Amino acid sequence: MENPKDYGFNSQLIHYSGHDDKYGSATVPIYQTSTFAFDSAEDGAACFAGTKEGYIYTRIGNPTVKALERQIALLEHGYDSVAVSSGMAAVSTVYMALLSGGDHMISSAAVYGPSRVVMEQHFSRFGVQSSYVNSADVENIKKEIRPNTKMIFIESPANPTMDITDIAACAEIAHSIGAILVVDNTFCSPYLQNPIDMGADVVLHSITKFINGHADIVGGVIIGKEKIIYDKLRTMMVNMGCNMDPHQAYLVIRGLKTLGIRVDRAQENAIEVAKFLENHPKIEWIKYPGLKSFAQKDLVEKQMKGPGTMISFGVKGGLEAGKKLMNNVKMCILAVSLGGIETLIQHPASMTHSKMSPKAREDAGISEGLVRFSVGIENVGDIIGDLRQALEKI
Ligand SMILES: *Cc1c(COP(=O)(O)O)cnc(C)c1O
Repeated sequence: MENPKDYGFNSQLIHYSGHDDKYGSATVPIYQTSTFAFDSAEDGAACFAGTKEGYIYTRIGNPTVKALERQIALLEHGYDSVAVSSGMAAVSTVYMALLSGGDHMISSAAVYGPSRVVMEQHFSRFGVQSSYVNSADVENIKKEIRPNTKMIFIESPANPTMDITDIAACAEIAHSIGAILVVDNTFCSPYLQNPIDMGADVVLHSITKFINGHADIVGGVIIGKEKIIYDKLRTMMVNMGCNMDPHQAYLVIRGLKTLGIRVDRAQENAIEVAKFLENHPKIEWIKYPGLKSFAQKDLVEKQMKGPGTMISFGVKGGLEAGKKLMNNVKMCILAVSLGGIETLIQHPASMTHSKMSPKAREDAGISEGLVRFSVGIENVGDIIGDLRQALEKI
């Protein structure tokens, strides 16, 4: 087997970093340089004209960053990818590259808070229109279609409601009207879900979360299914200047190698934690795709390779009780973000989703008492023990 596509996911993570250098280095070196020397004036002109492959300037491209981009494209089954400075840079670059004034976008009401804020507060100033619907029922998307709808932008599972959107159905709707489907796949990572296989045209990630996994950098990536879209994304990134830095890329490449085993372990833990919470008398409700009680179980099985590591729940007594829980955990960290090796707990209504209007939060199903839990790879007994002692204090 020579084609990296023929290997399993973990082998691809370890052996196909998308880089080659003349010294045969086993890991990807950090090309910490802003610019690259040309062999001659003619050589430089050819690089700029695109008739010769070669690096020019790090905002345009860098070998360390390219290694990461190739590897992520392989994992997400895309043509190629563009690494950017943050997950929000990925979202903004997608909007900027693929929408124009007068275009309309339909999105899930429960998308990552800033993905909605940047559209409604900033892109709207340039005449881009948007509608936010509960995409867990795709009929709601169909109802919002306008003659100028050019993009459907979804997140599944949604953050933090855990509602699942049928990706293949969205792709069909988008393509039937000549629009594109963009999927923010941050919550799953390429290990648990590959939207391109279900018809998505563009996939993006906050690399900050599962892909890097160690809570030490912020980054993003956009994967294009076809060259034509990838080229538009790359051009926009280069012109906007939201490139990923080589040192940042190096850390991501290092963190990415263990994505499979990290998610396996965190997911095993999440299943145990969810069962514990579901049976706890102080928990009012819980949403976790791995529980029998989860309403959209069929869709989880259809499009995800596992239930993931994110749990949303409400404590009896609402917001005040939830705050008590958060203030009393000892090992779990009270912090935003997710998908890392450490267990994090946070309160979306006052933290990640606080910039949304109360009405938008209500429409998105984000209740005031919702607590979001990102399960890490610690010993599961310690995570449950920490929750148990904190719940006792309520
Ligand atoms: C965190 C996150 C983002 C934004 O990523 P940053 O790296 O923080 O800019 C976008 N989408 C989802 C689903 C996220 O969780």
